[in-house]
Amino acid sequence: MEKYTPQREFADRRLKVSGARTYFYVNEAQCEKNMETFINCIDAVSGFGVDATYGTGFAAIKMTALGRPQLLMQLSETIARTRQYFHKVTGTCGGAVISSDISSDVFKARFNASLVCCFRQEAIGPVDNEAVQKWLDNMTYDKKGLIHLFSWSGLIDTNMLLQDVFRVPNLVTGKMEPLISTLTKEEEEMFKNMMRRLHTIFQYAQERDVRVMVDAEQTYFQPAISRLTMELMKKYNTEKAIVFNTYQCYLKNTYNDLVLDLEQCYRQKFFFGCKLVRGAYMEQERLRAEALGYEDPINPSFDATSEMYHRCLLEALQKIKKNKEDGCPTKIAIMVASHNEDTVRFTIRNMKQFGVQPEDRLICFGQLLGMCDHISLPLGAMLSLRPH
Ligand SMILES: Cc1cc2nc3c(=O)[nH]c(=O)nc-3n(C[C@H](O)[C@H](O)[C@H](O)COP(=O)(O)OP(=O)(O)OC[C@H]3O[C@@H](n4cnc5c(N)ncnc54)[C@H](O)[C@@H]3O)c2cc1C
Repeated sequence: MEKYTPQREFADRRLKVSGARTYFYVNEAQCEKNMETFINCIDAVSGFGVDATYGTGFAAIKMTALGRPQLLMQLSETIARTRQYFHKVTGTCGGAVISSDISSDVFKARFNASLVCCFRQEAIGPVDNEAVQKWLDNMTYDKKGLIHLFSWSGLIDTNMLLQDVFRVPNLVTGKMEPLISTLTKEEEEMFKNMMRRLHTIFQYAQERDVRVMVDAEQTYFQPAISRLTMELMKKYNTEKAIVFNTYQCYLKNTYNDLVLDLEQCYRQKFFFGCKLVRGAYMEQERLRAEALGYEDPINPSFDATSEMYHRCLLEALQKIKKNKEDGCPTKIAIMVASHNEDTVRFTIRNMKQFGVQPEDRLICFGQLLGMCDHISLPLGAMLSLRPH
């Protein structure tokens, strides 16, 4: 897919980006150093003695600093291919697997029906075929239906190879084949290294009781970054939100993505941390989409972006209110990362509306230090605010 193919003219990811740091891949040793820097940041945020922050602090990381970014691109493409495969089998259109509400039994039935006759007539049908059966049994689902076609938690927790996880039966031959483009042994090793670094960071963050936001980056990396972050949430957000995912409200799909991620955390019973931003890569995203001929992923106007920001916020506030009523008030935490005065006012107004108090510590405000002091300082006096 063109969107997920590296492009020479966009190789400099700093193009028209001023508000975000870009990490270029040098080698694995540099990624190791970046990890150590993030660990030092966690230490600094955690503080000691009179400076201790006692679970109220935030650090931020970028996944592209922790491994070879091209792997995130390949993984993002695999996510897109997985959806295509799923829709081909089920006859549904668009959207993530979790949004389909299709049970694993229905999926299996439709899968059998979608195999072409020659495969079924050879009497090596999927039920008899060990590899296909194993694949069907390994899908992630609950009572409501399928959540993922693959075991993502298996991927981040074990030493499985990407090539072995992302395999599906070919609907014509019945043979298992990879959905991910071919990876060398070295690339598989690099991916494992990236997962190890992420685990090291989040284990440490959990020990030091520091919340860590995973920054959102370009849309050709973001499906992988977001999916991995959700799996890390599932692993580390068992008692409170330590891992925070970032939602870029300038993207057309963000509201839907947020709703589905909220649903996943509800169904898989983990705490949800989310940072809402408008987004830092708008011009570059538009230029790339136009140059490569895919749909512009950005909302058509600033107002549409603001409307989406506020809709996402309201969705999360509604869920917080419901959680409070259900006796689990701390399941969702939000970082409103914006310098926009209207958005800050909108948030404060709706916190009151939904009965969320500053002392609940469920909503935090984040601004870049020194960029917006006329908003940050009064907010700091009133609510929970951290220098960033
Ligand atoms: C603490 C913190 C963390 C951040 N983390 C991330 C991150 O992980 N990933 C990331 O991408 N950004 C991140 N940002 C950057 C953030 O996205 C920018 O600060 C933001 O784009 C500026 O938006 P704003 O809400 O401050 O307000 P404003 O200055 O009011 O909004 C400007 C933004 O609106 C959007 N916009 C402007 N014109 C249009 C248009 N014509 N059509 C559609 N949208 C438009 C763009 O996103 C633009 O940047 C972070 C910012 C902060 C403060």
